[in-house]
Order: sequence, then structure tokens, then C-alpha cells
Amino acid sequence: MEKVEHIGIAVKSLAASVPLFEKLLNTPCYKTEAVASEAVRTAFFQSGPNKIELLESATEDGVIAKFIEKKGEGIHHIAFDVTDIRAEMARLKSEGFTLLNEQPKAGADDKLVCFLHPKGTNGVLIELCQPKP
Ligand code: ZN
Repeated sequence: MEKVEHIGIAVKSLAASVPLFEKLLNTPCYKTEAVASEAVRTAFFQSGPNKIELLESATEDGVIAKFIEKKGEGIHHIAFDVTDIRAEMARLKSEGFTLLNEQPKAGADDKLVCFLHPKGTNGVLIELCQPKP
């Protein structure tokens, strides 16, 4: 794995949180994107070399809605850059980690992504992401 690509934060409302993070980071949101496969709407910020992704549930029972119901708003996942997502998924699987998807899937921001089950990673949802070839 390489650098932290972004940190994902679950929010109830992008309409409320985008202006808040624009003030906090003193930079405009540069992209919003709906990811149908995950039932989320996302908003991205670049702060120096760091990227923040806000996630809002697109449905009442989506993964982000469920997360907020259980834990409240807050850090949802940490995403790492990988150069070969399939190789990294195979490596992690052989190390005993549980992949939440067996094949890379289309994520936000033109990435192929895979998530690791947080039960095997000290409660932290880990996302692998590789730029789409
Ligand atoms: Zn993410």
C-alpha cells in the first residue's frame, strides 16, 4: 500500500457539511459525485496534499445512513492508494483479511476500490483505491 489517498467522513447532510468544511479547510469543494453502487453522494476537498471525502447517504437505509445510526457522524474510512488493486486484494486475502467485495468496483473520483471488513482491522474500515486504468 502507498500513501493515504483520502479520509472519508460520514455526514448527515452535504448541504450543511460542504460549507462547513469549506470554512474549516479554507478551500472550495472541488467535486461532488453520486456513487449509485454505494447509494452515497460524495463531496471532495483538497487540503494541501490531503484529500477529504464527505459521504452522505442517498437512501434512508444505505450504508452511510446505517453507519450514522450506529456511530453518529464522523470518520468512516481511510483510503490507501495502491498501484495494483487485484494484487493487493489477493495479498490481503492470503493474510487473512476479509474483503467486502471480491472484485474491484467502481468508486468515486475515477477509482477502482475495495473495502476491508473493519472487524479484521481494529474497527477501521479500510478502502484500497487505484486510479481507473
Ligand atoms: Zn473513500
